[in-house]
Amino acid sequence: MPTVLTAVLSHETNTFSRFPTTLDCFSILRGGDISRERRGTRTHLGATFEAAETYGWTLRHPIAAAATPSGTVEDAAFEHLATAILAEAEGCDGALLHLHGAMVTDSFEDAEGELLRRLRAALGPHVPIVVTLDLHANVTSQMANNANGLIAVRTYPHIDYYERAHQAAALLDRALRNEIRPRVALARRPMLRGLDGGRTQMGPMRELLDRADGLEAAGEALAISVHAGFTAADIHDAGPTVAVTTDGADGRGQAIADSFMDYAWEHRAWTSQSWTPIPEAMALAAESGTAPLVINEITDNPGSGHYGDATNLLAAMIEAKLQNAAFYAIFDPAAVQQAIAIGVGNTGAVTLGGRHDPAAGGGPITVPARVVTLSDGRFRAYGAMAGGVWRDHGPSAMLRTGEGDGIEIALISRNGQATDLAQLTSLGIDVPRKSTIVLKSAQHFRAAFTPVARRIITVDGGGLGSVILRGGRFTRLRRPIWPLDEVTAAG
Ligand SMILES: [Zn+2]
Repeated sequence: MPTVLTAVLSHETNTFSRFPTTLDCFSILRGGDISRERRGTRTHLGATFEAAETYGWTLRHPIAAAATPSGTVEDAAFEHLATAILAEAEGCDGALLHLHGAMVTDSFEDAEGELLRRLRAALGPHVPIVVTLDLHANVTSQMANNANGLIAVRTYPHIDYYERAHQAAALLDRALRNEIRPRVALARRPMLRGLDGGRTQMGPMRELLDRADGLEAAGEALAISVHAGFTAADIHDAGPTVAVTTDGADGRGQAIADSFMDYAWEHRAWTSQSWTPIPEAMALAAESGTAPLVINEITDNPGSGHYGDATNLLAAMIEAKLQNAAFYAIFDPAAVQQAIAIGVGNTGAVTLGGRHDPAAGGGPITVPARVVTLSDGRFRAYGAMAGGVWRDHGPSAMLRTGEGDGIEIALISRNGQATDLAQLTSLGIDVPRKSTIVLKSAQHFRAAFTPVARRIITVDGGGLGSVILRGGRFTRLRRPIWPLDEVTAAG
């Protein structure tokens, strides 16, 4: 009966954020709490528990730790989490880790590579290590060389962690039975951006994922993992990659990875995105309809490590006197405390947002408002990305400002992007009956909100994402690189 180590360590690090990621920023489950909370859920861990039963593994699951994207992870946090994982490694026959793939710490710009290097050193060269990743992973040679399989999610919104974890578990089990000796080949090109930011509905990402499905089905590779990369990371290896897992290393995997990246390079400029300026968005919001206009503020997306407290767009909504609108959310624990002091049903002035960097989407604004809802911020998410797990945004409030129905503003104390209707409904925001809903999210909101929207527009509110795009200063990134430099050959 093989013993398998599993763990979650997930953080997408935006190295341009001023908000350092401490141990407190992580939601952490340990030991028995992990099985209690995750068994039976449609998550990577839910799949891992099922696989352990199917294959007869004894699971060791010391820790599951994830934090909303934010700035560089402090060394002390990484060492604490990595130590918890490595402490259970001795004597394991295999490992199935669920990582993000774009974590940066004070000391390691490739934190997952460092973790896998240590795990490999602890387990020795022959114990199989299989890893699931986010498709926004910045995959490095260190990760590829120290893992026997890399498998990223294939959807954005990411709704297939469960399926990918089952695929990874099946791969690991074959390796444990010595049926296969998997190895990973990796390819990259001098690209920081590409693959349409990882959008899987159409365009080059869709094309490569379809090819990957075909090659896997034909037995040409055990797994093909396509990563769009995470661009708000000033590290040497940021950008798209393809990792191909094959049985043994005979060059086939590298040939597939190279051909995929040649295609990604050729189509690097393809985009499905168009960004609407705020005034145009306000004009569209003034029109009424039978379902909400959903505006996603892509440039202040906590899911990309932006601050989640930019106020320019909210200020424009108040200025435009929008009716029956909702705004999710402003991340501002101090503003929540003001709302608590005012009390439910009472009216007062709340100063909110813009606290991290007023140059990134606007400074604090003071809003006269009624406090409609106060909450501890815990709710059960039920959308396709959530798998029925409990989420916690910390003490939260919903304010209503303006005449009549006005604008409902969610305030949260733990940052997080809008991905699930329950984030709004748990605060009393009646999603389907709103005329306009603003969500701070780049793409993940679509799984839950597309079905209720009359139309979706993407707005540049001037937040950190906009600042990085307009002039993010990269000092560690390999150069030359597209689109920051003129690059003529893929090299
Ligand atoms: Zn992602």
